[in-house]
Amino acid sequence: MTLKKITVLLTLGVLVALYVAFDLNRFFSLDYLKHSQQSFEHLYAEQPLKVISLYFVVYVAVTALSFPGAVILTLAGGAIFGLGWGTLIISFASSIGATLAFLMARFVLRDSIEARFGPRLAEFNQGLEKEGAFYLFTLRLVPLVPFFVINLLMGLTHMKVSTYYGVSQLGMLAGTLVYVNAGTQLGQLDSLQGILSPALLGSFVLLGFFPLLARQVASRLQQRQVFARWKHLKPKAFDRNLIVIGGGAGGLVSAYIAAVVKAKVTLVEAHKLGGDCLNYGCVPSKALIKSARVAHQMQHASRYGLSDSTPTFSFKAVMQRVFDVIAAIEPHDSAARYTALGVDVVQGYARIVNPWTVAITRPDGQVQVLTTRAIVIAAGARPFVPPLPGLETVGFLTSDTLWHAFAQLDEIPKRLLVLGGGPMGCELAQSFQRLGAQVTQVDMAQRLMGREDEEVSQIVQASLERDGVQVLTGHQALRCESSTSTSAIRPAGQNFGPGVLITQHLGQEVRLEFDALLCAVGREARLTGYGLEDLGIPTQRTVATNAYLQTIYPNIFAAGDVAGPYQLTHVAAHQAWYATVNALFGEVKKFKVDYTVIPWATFTDPEVARVGLNEQEAREKNIAYELTQFDLADLDRAIADSDAQGFVKVLTVPGKDKILGVTLVGAQAGELLAEYVLAMKHGLGLNKILGTIHTYPTLAEANKYAAGAWKRAHPPKRLLEWAHKYHAWRRGLK
Ligand SMILES: Cc1cc2nc3c(=O)[nH]c(=O)nc-3n(C[C@H](O)[C@H](O)[C@H](O)COP(=O)(O)OP(=O)(O)OC[C@H]3O[C@@H](n4cnc5c(N)ncnc54)[C@H](O)[C@@H]3O)c2cc1C
Repeated sequence: MTLKKITVLLTLGVLVALYVAFDLNRFFSLDYLKHSQQSFEHLYAEQPLKVISLYFVVYVAVTALSFPGAVILTLAGGAIFGLGWGTLIISFASSIGATLAFLMARFVLRDSIEARFGPRLAEFNQGLEKEGAFYLFTLRLVPLVPFFVINLLMGLTHMKVSTYYGVSQLGMLAGTLVYVNAGTQLGQLDSLQGILSPALLGSFVLLGFFPLLARQVASRLQQRQVFARWKHLKPKAFDRNLIVIGGGAGGLVSAYIAAVVKAKVTLVEAHKLGGDCLNYGCVPSKALIKSARVAHQMQHASRYGLSDSTPTFSFKAVMQRVFDVIAAIEPHDSAARYTALGVDVVQGYARIVNPWTVAITRPDGQVQVLTTRAIVIAAGARPFVPPLPGLETVGFLTSDTLWHAFAQLDEIPKRLLVLGGGPMGCELAQSFQRLGAQVTQVDMAQRLMGREDEEVSQIVQASLERDGVQVLTGHQALRCESSTSTSAIRPAGQNFGPGVLITQHLGQEVRLEFDALLCAVGREARLTGYGLEDLGIPTQRTVATNAYLQTIYPNIFAAGDVAGPYQLTHVAAHQAWYATVNALFGEVKKFKVDYTVIPWATFTDPEVARVGLNEQEAREKNIAYELTQFDLADLDRAIADSDAQGFVKVLTVPGKDKILGVTLVGAQAGELLAEYVLAMKHGLGLNKILGTIHTYPTLAEANKYAAGAWKRAHPPKRLLEWAHKYHAWRRGLK
């Protein structure tokens, strides 16, 4: 705690002590007020401005310091100033006082509370950002919740001060009026309890419910409003319960769930079932990574007591294997499989015509129009291509075009430039380097994989550089130019070609020649061309949805890359469950999508896997954590595999074994993470991991050793002292 905070706390303590010592409470009793009413009125008649000012200051001080007495002061206000002036003065004084109390609680407590309960509060704060003003207003209307409690609790949130003040002033007005009015008839008052009769309290509670009710009504009205211009098109009966647009990871899971629960569902895919993941993303990249890893192991076979050898291979065969792998997995996502499961699979381009109608243009040009109760948009994302001058002219590859383009080649391009230092760029840069290309990887950021902790970036960069990749961070791509080399002519029909990328680095222009440029700078959600614009469905970088994955049309949902915020296959599937269940059963019960435990992995060598917070995020969010690290250099299996690089890094709540996040770097990190994902999801701490038998010798033991390292740092001191005494006693010592 800082000196300033300690000073504020001490000052508060002294003021409370003085309040008690001088028994100031006696001035805030109904009897005292009744006795002194006449003299107050007299004083007010003589010096109105002075009395108002003094009253105002005392009122603000009492409410700001959360001292008891605000009720008596309010009655006094009514008695002295009358209903109109009394209400006006008190309305401002109470709001200012409340806001000061709110600020005080924020200054003294918020940081430490956030440091302790940050992850749980983050979600609460997000909700509050959207609806905080509304809930505050409701609380203010019902004087059952003590106002000082509201000030204290709200101070711990991120609500804007101006919002807090404004909403408080408005919300407290009704209560203020009642008490000021009671003050104007002070003579007839026998007790404070009498002011709030059960009937009046009931009215306040009703008043408190009013905004909730009003919101329900407003939400219904809003729904009616978005539907209004389509109302005449609403069918009496529907062809389908659900239409799913897009047959990638999200869409397939959505259609599957709908079919399982016996809904009539149509899945529309414009291109290839399986979407990005199967055809251009996870599957081909992981197949390539495996070939590259084998090649790398051959080159470094001496690590295992064998002779290093330069792998001889046909690049065409490597790429063919990529397509063989896709073909082997394809049946899992095939129309035949989903049809057998009960899904109506349609090949075609879907367009939402109105909230209940989807038009599907089939490959032969025929249009099928289907009506539906609900729609799940799972249209995915496409590679983002930066607006670099000259890029289109020179030609480039993306994850969409890479696989087919390279499958045509006999040789891997000699100089491959990978633009982008994220997970995808790193995985592909390393793999193509290992398969014989000279890869240059360029990123404008100062380090690769910027979402991970700095030491992770360093390990990944070092590993890429060991393999021979030229990693150029801090290089901002400016433009592309045609190559001056005469041999560098783009072959006919090829969508990429040789060229030069000009970057800016430390104020200087740098020229980077390449034979192929792979753009891997991220992917953007597909947001146009299928009806969002016509229906006025808001989009920013993704389709805007609420916590139920609903768009502004309550029967139209979005899941997967098109909905964000993550771009991962398993998150697309996770969201698909929520979108589908809410779409089909939302009238009965809706579920808010849960993003609390989201794992991911980058399949570089070594792999990087993460769930929850890393140090970087914990610091950004000001969340206190304790760090436990176990180095794979000490792990028997990793040593036996000659692969003992990396670590397990666990962040826990200080003093507790509760896991806040884990970063794993090393061989099979993506697999090892699963244990921590399970632990976090089900609230199991490091003690539970430590108490679980792990097979020897496995890499998974690293998780147990990390838990052991945490335990050694938190020994049960008391118990050990007693154990020490017990053993001494057993040896006959005193
Ligand atoms: C190189 C690369 C590697 C990756 N590696 C991983 C990884 O290791 N792990 C991981 O979790 N994720 C990985 N990803 C990300 C992963 O592929 C995506 O997050 C995932 O595919 C998203 O699924 P989706 O269903 O949202 O979208 P998509 O899979 O893109 O599916 C959307 C589908 O909708 C169709 N569509 C669009 N509009 C229409 C329309 N109007 N009518 C009909 N159909 C339409 C598209 O044709 C597409 O098939 C990788 C991505 C890339 C590019």
